[in-house]
Amino acid sequence: MPAETRAADDDTIIGIDLGTTNSEVAIIAGGKPSIVEEGGEAILPSCVGLDDHGAVVVGRQARNQAAAAPERTVLSIKRLMGSGTQVRMGKEAYTPQEISAFVLKALKERAARALGRDVGKAVITVPAYFTDAQRQATREAGEIAGLTVVRIINEPTAAALSYESGAAGSRTLLVYDLGGGTFDVSVVRIEQGVVEVLATAGDNQLGGDDFDALVLERLNAHVEQELGIENARDDRLLQARLRRSAERAKIELSDQPYVRVEEDHVATVDGEARHLACELTRADFERDLEPFLDRSLQAVTTALQDAGMRPSELDRVLLVGGSTRIPRIAAVLTERLGQEPHGEVDPDMCVALGAGVQAGLEMGQDTQAVLVDITPYTFGTRVEGELYGRPYAHEFVPLIRRNSKLPAIRTDVFFTLFEDQEEAEIKVYQGEDPDALKNVEIGTFLFGGLNQREGARDRGLLVTYSLDLDGLLHVHARERATGREIRGVVENAIGRTGAEALGEARERVSALWGEAGDGAEGGAEPAGEAAGGVEPSPAPAAVPPDVAREAGETLARAEQALEAAPAEDREEMIDLMEDLRDALKEGAAERAGELRRELDEILFYLE
Ligand code: AMP
Repeated sequence: MPAETRAADDDTIIGIDLGTTNSEVAIIAGGKPSIVEEGGEAILPSCVGLDDHGAVVVGRQARNQAAAAPERTVLSIKRLMGSGTQVRMGKEAYTPQEISAFVLKALKERAARALGRDVGKAVITVPAYFTDAQRQATREAGEIAGLTVVRIINEPTAAALSYESGAAGSRTLLVYDLGGGTFDVSVVRIEQGVVEVLATAGDNQLGGDDFDALVLERLNAHVEQELGIENARDDRLLQARLRRSAERAKIELSDQPYVRVEEDHVATVDGEARHLACELTRADFERDLEPFLDRSLQAVTTALQDAGMRPSELDRVLLVGGSTRIPRIAAVLTERLGQEPHGEVDPDMCVALGAGVQAGLEMGQDTQAVLVDITPYTFGTRVEGELYGRPYAHEFVPLIRRNSKLPAIRTDVFFTLFEDQEEAEIKVYQGEDPDALKNVEIGTFLFGGLNQREGARDRGLLVTYSLDLDGLLHVHARERATGREIRGVVENAIGRTGAEALGEARERVSALWGEAGDGAEGGAEPAGEAAGGVEPSPAPAAVPPDVAREAGETLARAEQALEAAPAEDREEMIDLMEDLRDALKEGAAERAGELRRELDEILFYLE
């Protein structure tokens, strides 16, 4: 039965994320939202067109014809919502509301097919920065599509709802939303199901497209330098091919340390076909990315300042948008905000799922946050590296980070220390400390018979951790040069060490740290006066050297910032600095750590 002829069910409300590039629809059942998939596809590209016969097509079909028939295809209409301009599609001009209505109609029908009844009401999300005119246009688009828009909610609000619906008390979240073309950061507060956007900042010229361009630049440089093709950048067809490869490579680099890009017949030189085969590394990509991430962090600072919040006051940091799958993003946010962000609700879906939660609330249902299985711990290995700026033999390198959605898989590359090194020990640790010895060792694997030639391009061991829903951690290592592999499993990786065991391990290590202070390999240095001598004397109270060093650095920065600091901050800083110095003198490590963090937070704004 076609959806139009079914009786509309007045009680059913659907949740819609009407995106610039992609849209999704969520329905709610038993208090739980879910995305409606069709043909295995959850995403509907926000594209509208007329086919060869003049019939309207929406989604993938419209997107596929965009290159061949641009005059009758419309992309990214969201950018024009509320502008009063019209776009041409075929012979006629349409308002942005009308074009969006086609997308909404397609989503409405999709939901109706899944539910087996017609749907007449929707909650639709819009960016937090949308003006009244843009919101009104969105409402009108809904009405044109035959939907009563019961609520327009902000995208970060929806993201917050997908995580926090039903949570008790007041919670403050930072939503970091990095998609294909735009970046938004919002600070939101949620209290008894009511969400308020406290501040929002962003950059509508920052997103995955820029990252594709970085990779494309490396491919073009390779084509020019290695293949000797000079005018590659003028070849539009080649550029289109390379751009597609660049995006694919970028996505792969989120899971792999290297990626090989191969394109047949990119040009003909002296009558001979030239093929592209080049390797890109995550390390290079991350270096290229740095200026963009810095810009996004500036917006994070602005949003926090505008909301009058400090990083430590945030209850959660949420990742939204496909580009936040780049692991470096979680890493820089952790460094900057002092907590691991959450990305376990699919970053492409969490806005639509949150719209579904809001739809449930509108229907008077008790709704639950979108619960997914995540790992409560970080899993990593140990390398000869550095700790707090000093060489250290047990630097912890995380592979699967805390809060990752399960199943989780991550590969990284590690190098042997010496030429002719014949074996490598892969130690598996669980924990959050940059010092591997302060985490819990849960397994060791030995890779013997190595064949690592000095200077060879394909040196190194690729180590993959994959953690499944049953808590089994599969460890796989492959020697790049020879392809030889070893595999192992750590059973019950999640269950075996709860917080208690971790606490015990930490205590054990701290105790050892205090006793065996010979300074070797970053061990505890004798604090204060050297121990020993004939007379046994009470050991001077001391904090561990890393705490002392960090506190010292923060104090030095605070001294510098003091003069230029606003009066109200200066007073607080002086108090904190005095207290911190006292805590250091008394050997109160924990208190010193807390005071240092408080001081750091003030400096975060001043520097
Ligand atoms: P969105 O607008 O939220 O759908 O985000 C789309 C952007 O996310 C595009 O630029 C994609 O290339 C990018 N993207 C999707 N998956 C990944 C991934 N695993 N790693 C890096 N970027 C990704």
